[in-house]
Amino acid sequence: MKRFRIACALCALIACGFPGCASEKLRYNLLLVTIDTLRADRLGCYGNRGASTPSIDRLARSGVMISNVTTQIPATIPSLASLFSSRLPHDSGLYGNRDHLASEETTLAEVLAGAGYRTMAVAYGVPSQGRGLEQGFHQYNGASPEPGNLPSVGFGTADEVSGRVEDWFSGETEEPFFGWIHFWDPHQDYSPPPPYDSMHGGSSDGLSSMVQFSDVFRREIELGPEELASSLALYDGEISFVDREIGKVLARLEQSGLTERTIVVLAADHGEDFYEHHRYIGHGRFLYEAGLHVPTILSGPHIPAGSVVEGDARLIDLAPTLLKLLDVPMPDSFEGRSFAGSLAGGGIERSLPTFSLLEDGSMMTRRDGWKLAVHRQTSTMELFDLMADPGERKNLADDATAKRQEMEESLRSWAKAFSDEATRPRNLPSEFEKRLRALGYID
Ligand SMILES: [Zn+2]
Repeated sequence: MKRFRIACALCALIACGFPGCASEKLRYNLLLVTIDTLRADRLGCYGNRGASTPSIDRLARSGVMISNVTTQIPATIPSLASLFSSRLPHDSGLYGNRDHLASEETTLAEVLAGAGYRTMAVAYGVPSQGRGLEQGFHQYNGASPEPGNLPSVGFGTADEVSGRVEDWFSGETEEPFFGWIHFWDPHQDYSPPPPYDSMHGGSSDGLSSMVQFSDVFRREIELGPEELASSLALYDGEISFVDREIGKVLARLEQSGLTERTIVVLAADHGEDFYEHHRYIGHGRFLYEAGLHVPTILSGPHIPAGSVVEGDARLIDLAPTLLKLLDVPMPDSFEGRSFAGSLAGGGIERSLPTFSLLEDGSMMTRRDGWKLAVHRQTSTMELFDLMADPGERKNLADDATAKRQEMEESLRSWAKAFSDEATRPRNLPSEFEKRLRALGYID
């Protein structure tokens, strides 16, 4: 990576050194906002009529909304690592929140820093502890990230996060910036401040401590209809609270006169299962759309306003897309494919299947509206026709056998990379390999 960074810095210098040669696009800023645990369908712009997400909806109207983006793993650190390194979890060696993105990996921030960008991040929650995601940022959580000496910020709320980026847009600087803001609030526990604690009709008073605290996301719980509705209302309240703070950040960007030359992107690391298929609220345990389908919105110069781009994309495709929009070369290590060419319309065409996995070895593939998931927790194989059955209610694994076999073969070929000597992932945990073997994925 370090060689790539030097090469890019040279490119930028050369581009700026010749009058008339400097690319206008090179000067665009990039503001990436990620929201932890935000499932796409809770946003107004993604069809939730009961939502109160005016800032995000306005952002969607000012730009392009990608209809169907899938996370490669519904867990915070591996997913964000996939986003920044544009690598599949097993290729970058991250499966769980305890894992660390290796310094050899090349990240979006490193590429942009190498291209002359000022890079800064405010990332609360699990990412506040670094985990390798700080690579390439000149400022991380407001302090310089010296190895082994990362600042400990703790779990900040959305208003604290937005307060920390106040000075990002002030002052005249020569170089463009890349800013990453990670909001943590919709992650359990769901405890939005007033008025968001009652905005969607929920009340924390009637909730049992099991629902309120994050230990629920590892086990099944019994909830009555009222408790479930209250949980969802509080989760929506957290999203509305974050939405207000995003509105403040975007207003500040506007007041600084930077909106016209800043690409703003909104994404999420994963969604949240909400009792749809099992007595479970959380993420990281199943591969249903509630946990995998994440919102992705892009707005800024040369991005058409108010359109929706249909088709399947992956979170690892986002970094290549952003580099394309910024006219910055993409490193060879990036596995994603830019969908920048589809933003003007026409939809995203994918000739390859999409894959996602869980730390326990469960895997999913989807293609042409069909989805096959093998869940280790329940030892089940589920096949869904997502076009006809977006709620994943009717398991067709025993009915559409030809389709199941075709997709199973695709999943097996993909999983084979875990055992082949040439493609075996670095740092593959022996436990993970054992699980794949137990599932019959590899010999
Ligand atoms: Zn997360």
